Formats: sequence, structure tokens, C-alpha cells
Amino acid sequence: MTKKYFDVAVIGGGLLGSSFAYGFGQAGLSVALIDEGDNAIRTARGNFGLVWVQGKGEGMREYARWSRKSADDWGNFSAQLSELTDHDLGYHQSGGFNISLDEAELQQYLRMLEGLKADAGEEGYEYELVQGRTLAKYLPGIGEDVAGATYCPHDGHVNPLYLLRALQEGFRKHGGCYLPLSSIDQIQPLKSSGFELSSEGRQVASCERLVIAAGHGSVGLGQQVGIRIPIYPEQGQIIVTERSTEQLAYPTNMIRQTDEGTFMLGASARDVGFNSETTTDTLQDIVRRCASAFPHLRSLRIQRNWAALRIMTPDGFPVYSQSEEFPGAFAFSCHSGVTLAAVHAQDVCRWVVDGKIPTDYRCFGPERFDVSTAN
Ligand SMILES: Cc1cc2nc3c(=O)[nH]c(=O)nc-3n(C[C@H](O)[C@H](O)[C@H](O)COP(=O)(O)OP(=O)(O)OC[C@H]3O[C@@H](n4cnc5c(N)ncnc54)[C@H](O)[C@@H]3O)c2cc1C
Repeated sequence: MTKKYFDVAVIGGGLLGSSFAYGFGQAGLSVALIDEGDNAIRTARGNFGLVWVQGKGEGMREYARWSRKSADDWGNFSAQLSELTDHDLGYHQSGGFNISLDEAELQQYLRMLEGLKADAGEEGYEYELVQGRTLAKYLPGIGEDVAGATYCPHDGHVNPLYLLRALQEGFRKHGGCYLPLSSIDQIQPLKSSGFELSSEGRQVASCERLVIAAGHGSVGLGQQVGIRIPIYPEQGQIIVTERSTEQLAYPTNMIRQTDEGTFMLGASARDVGFNSETTTDTLQDIVRRCASAFPHLRSLRIQRNWAALRIMTPDGFPVYSQSEEFPGAFAFSCHSGVTLAAVHAQDVCRWVVDGKIPTDYRCFGPERFDVSTAN
């Protein structure tokens, strides 16, 4: 294979890497998107598909603002991507509901939203408590025992597989070069500037700027350019039912209906390392909670289930970093790559082109976990 020099190379063809590669291509740069292959641990293909603002950012106002910005940008982002690739992404920004099954859950969630509202100050934080008959009008079939739900108009959902496919196609249409089956194990900073990337001794590509977006594979790659990436896996399991004639017009924190008519049930979180196997007790728990919210689901057959590994940071917020030693190298990790796809493809690509993460976004740097910084 001919070794080629690119303006930017992105390591990792998951949701983050594909969003960046698409954005760089759109900005007119020559881009290589490098991925290790289908056996990789990847989250991009196992997620729930929410573009979600509600409840995000407790303890970091900037993250609440960042999620909201991405949700606001999602409409244009999705329209442009659909037009370029001729694929409907199944994106709907209908607003979404966070369902609380009992009163204690509801009160705890409301306290959290009130805290976010207080933090937001004059910028405001929109949500509405909906209960009883009014809730049943919005969510037909909702269980009578459900304590209530909060509605946020900025929430939405998308088919995450269509999103991934469109990003990769869009990137190619912009002239990008996809390099599959290449597990990068060596990053060699070049003398003048730039990097050379190799896999098992084979040179794969060279680039002026480097973006590490390899999900759980990022940790070791970051170390090679002096970037510490504090992430760990958190397992989530998802169930998909058969198609149903019942209609659910709004996505919720635990259930959403796809355009094809199936219901996706989810929202579990387990600390089991890199184990991505489903377990009966977690699946039963998901079914129990979702069937309490919507009793009619009990009559539907389950078609598929799977587990996938979230890319978590110690405080749950993104980790965006730039190498001090090698300033052209960046690394980006987060657990809401669907929601943040719009700002990743636009804003974050601009930072890399400009050569630095703007001061306003340095709050997402890994330095926030340094004990010495905190003191
Ligand atoms: C159960 C579950 C539900 C979720 N629900 C939502 C949701 O509703 N909304 C939302 O916004 N987010 C959600 N997420 C999170 C979202 O899926 C992730 O933020 C996103 O997929 C992360 O993408 P990524 O590109 O960082 O990682 P990945 O998708 O894991 O991609 C990393 C890629 O890097 C490649 N790679 C790794 N190492 C190397 C190497 N050395 N060389 C080359 N390539 C390499 C791998 O092949 C892989 O393709 C959910 C996650 C889970 C697990």
C-alpha cells in the first residue's frame, strides 16, 4: 500500500472518529479514518440512540450547555448529512420524557433538575413535570402507577446505525480515505512536525494532525503522545421487541420506538470490566421496569438483546485533550457520542484545524482529575 501524507488522521472509526472524519472532510481537509476492524470493542453499534439534554451536566454547567448546543445543532447537522448521503437518519426532535416509576425516584430527579436550573441562571433550563391523565395523553399506555415524568423539548432520538453509516459515507463523499483492518500500535512523532502511524511494523499513514478517537483503545495510544485518558468501561444492556402497532411518539429514558415499529428497552449500568455478555437478571430488571412504565409491552416478543461498553470518565463528562509535548495530537473520549455528534463534527473539528482547544473548553481536559490542580 502506498504510504500517504494526510492533513489529519483519525484513529477509530466509531461514532466519535466518524463524526470527526466527516467534519474534517467537510472543512476541505485530506483525511484518513483508520479502524482496526469488526472484532473491536466498539460502542458505536450498541447504543440506545438518544440525542439527550435532560438531566445532563450536574456538577459541570459547561457540559449541560455543550449537550444543549449539540441538540440545537442536530437538526441542521442531520439535514446536511441526509442530503449528502441520501439516507434518512431516523432523527426526530420531538422532545423527550424522563419517566420516574415511583415518588421517591421522581422527587430525586426533580431535585436534580432544579439544581441544573439554578446553575443555568438567566440562560434558563426548560423542563416540565407531567403526571396523571395529561401524561397518558402524551404517552398512551403509560402505567397507572407511574409517579410522573419530566418533559424536555430539546430531547430527541435517531437510528444510531444509520447515523454511523451516513457519517462514514459522507466522509467518503468528501474525498476521505478509509483504512480498515489497521490496528494502530505505534505513533511516531516526526522531527519537524506530524506523525507516522504503524500497525505491526507496517506503516499505515502519516499526518500533520492526529486525532485519537479509538474508544477504549485510546488509552495506550494517548500515552504514546503524552496524553492521559482516564476512561473505564461501564456495561449497558439493551432489548429490542418485535414490531408493534402501538405508537410511542416520544423517546423516554428507558424506552423508545424506532421508525420500524420495534421498541428498544434499556438503561442498565454494570461495572464488569470488559465483559460484554448479557445476563438474565439484568435483562429481567430492564423488562420489569419497562413493563411497569408501559404494561402493554408484556405482550410483545423479544427479538434481540445485547450488551455494550460505555466509555466512562470518573465524573461522567467528556475528556478532550491536546498533547503539550506534541501539539498536533489530540484525543477525545465521551459516553454520549450520539448526542454530541453535531458539535464533534463541527466545533471540535474547528479546534483541531485551529491547532488548539479553546480556553472555554479546557474544563473538559483530564487535568481536572489531578489532585494537585484541585488543591
Ligand atoms: C448501552 C449503551 C447505550 C448508549 N446510549 C447512548 C445514547 O442513547 N445516546 C448517546 O449519546 N450515547 C449513548 N451511548 C454512548 C455512545 O454509544 C458512545 O459515546 C459512542 O459510541 C462512543 O464512540 P467512540 O467512537 O468513542 O467509541 P467506539 O464506538 O467504541 O469506537 C472506537 C473505534 O476505535 C477503533 N479502535 C480501537 N483501537 C484502535 C486502534 N488501536 N487502531 C485503530 N482503531 C482502533 C475500534 O475498532 C472502534 O471502531 C451508549 C452507550 C452504550 C454502551
